[in-house]
This record gives sequence, C-alpha cells and structure tokens, in this order.
Amino acid sequence: MNILRIQDLKVNAREKEILKGINLSLKEKDIQVIMGANGSGKSTLAEILMGSFEYKIIDGDIYFFEENINNMKPYLRARKGMFLAFQNPVEVPGVNFGTFLYTAYKSIYKENIEIFEFILRLKKESKRLGIDDTFLSRNLNEGLSGGEKKRMEILQIAILKPKFAILDEIDSGLDVDGIKFITESINTLNKEGITFLIITHQKKMLDKINISKVHIMNDGKIVKSGGRILIEKIESLGYKKIIKNL
Ligand code: ADP
Ligand code: MG
Repeated sequence: MNILRIQDLKVNAREKEILKGINLSLKEKDIQVIMGANGSGKSTLAEILMGSFEYKIIDGDIYFFEENINNMKPYLRARKGMFLAFQNPVEVPGVNFGTFLYTAYKSIYKENIEIFEFILRLKKESKRLGIDDTFLSRNLNEGLSGGEKKRMEILQIAILKPKFAILDEIDSGLDVDGIKFITESINTLNKEGITFLIITHQKKMLDKINISKVHIMNDGKIVKSGGRILIEKIESLGYKKIIKNL
C-alpha cells in the first residue's frame, strides 16, 4: 500500500511556480531520498506535504494512505501520521520542550496520558536514543546548537511515532557524531515501521541507511530516479553535469 502518492503536483509561492509537476510514491517502510541543487524546490515540496499556508497547489494531487489531502489542515495531517522535521527548526522561547511534546502528543492521539507518565516515557526514549535528558527541561530549541536541535527533532519522532516522517536537511551543520546518531536513529525507527522521505546533500548521511530509492530534483521537477548508484554519480559529477547529460 502506498503511504504517500503525489500526482502531477504543481505548486506556487505567491505568483511564482515552484513545483512544476512532481510524481512520487512511497510504500510502507520505504526510505526514499531527494537530492538536488539549492533552490530546486525540495523544501517547498516538504512544506506543501505538511500543508504549509505559504504555498498553493495549482494542479495535481497528494494522497496520504490513499486519501486526498490537498486541502487538509496541517494538524489533521499530523493526526493521520505525518511529521516534518524542518530545515531550520524555530526557537520558541518560553515554551518548554517537554510540555510542547506533551501537548502535541495529546492532540495527535487524543489520549489523556498523565504528564508524569509522559515525562517518564520521554526520559526512557531519550535514554534509548542516547540523548542527554537535561535537554528535556529546556525551552523548545532555544539556545540549542544546530546539532542539538536536530537531535530533538529525532526525539520528537521517537515519541510521536508518526507513520511517515519527512526530514529536510536534518544533517545540515552536524558533526560526525551527530550524523552517526541521526543515521542510527533513522534505521531504528524505520525498523519499528516509520517510512522516511529524506532530503539531504550528504552522501555520508546515506552510507549506512537502507535506501529504497533516490530522486534528483531540479527546477521544480524530479529529473532522475534510481538506486544508491545515483548518490555516487552526484558525488563524482555534481548536479549540473548530471542534469546536462540527461
Ligand atoms: P531547496 O529546498 O531545494 O533549496 P526551496 O524549496 O527552498 O529549494 O526553494 C525553491 C525556490 O522557490 C527558490 O527559488 C526559492 O527562492 C523559491 N521560494 C521558496 N519559498 C518561497 C516563498 N515563500 N516565496 C517566494 N519564493 C519562494
Ligand atoms: Mg531546502
């Protein structure tokens, strides 16, 4: 069964056409990768999937579990099991991470779990993933380094257990240990049933991940799809040459 199916999707930002006909489908437990030069529309795709109001669907369809979600509100997409880790997670001073996640969890699962029980679960999960639990009492992303923010995004996935997670350049600004942490977490969470769409530039990020498919995006379109070999090609040739030789 397809978790996500995108058909001939065209998307505008203000009056400008950004996505120019995207076709993509992911099956349960897939890990698919989107690569592509800066400005090719990767983040726009990630955000329109989550229902961002900044963009407008001009044509085409997005199906999540074979239900058309073109007009579905972002919180309902989250409730149906979609999660987006932003390229630049926002800092929210005054909002405690644990409280934020507790509220999100209750909104998604409509479950009246006690805060104490939730915090215990949060601590257990951070321990399992090797995240220092002093972060749990901090404010949402406030004053965290790039790498720490990305770790907290992974913790959110581990707790909220979406069916489908989109990671938009989750590896940007990460050191070697950070990348190792992210790739190991993706593998663990994927084994537990989470489907991933990963947007990245780094081969290193993908070396230890069991990838189903790689797509190259250029100027609002997916111009090439294939297996892991495409990553090697990008590394050796660069996007420009690959696109010229299509
Ligand atoms: P990528 O993530 O692949 O680097 P983006 O999706 O961020 O690319 O951007 C694709 C193109 O769309 C860029 O030319 C960018 O300037 C433009 N764009 C993105 N968001 C907006 C917006 N809200 N308003 C106008 N232009 C936008
Ligand atoms: Mg981007």
